[in-house]
Amino acid sequence: MGIIAAAAAFLVRFGHDRWPRLLLEHRDDGTGHCRDCRGSVWPCTLYVIAEHAQRLIRADSPDQPRGAGDGR
Ligand SMILES: [Zn+2]
Repeated sequence: MGIIAAAAAFLVRFGHDRWPRLLLEHRDDGTGHCRDCRGSVWPCTLYVIAEHAQRLIRADSPDQPRGAGDGR
């Protein structure tokens, strides 16, 4: 397991409600660099990790309905 996959697995397991913020904050600033990690070429490591976490979540719950949450 690479460091990215390991970090993503860690996020999903212990910080599953926080990692989506990384996807919002660590964006391309328009010059090919990360907005939040100034100077880092985008996609930065944190973004890649969060994206991997997103994939793990989706792979883990393939039949979870989209847009759910309004209960019954
Ligand atoms: Zn970043």
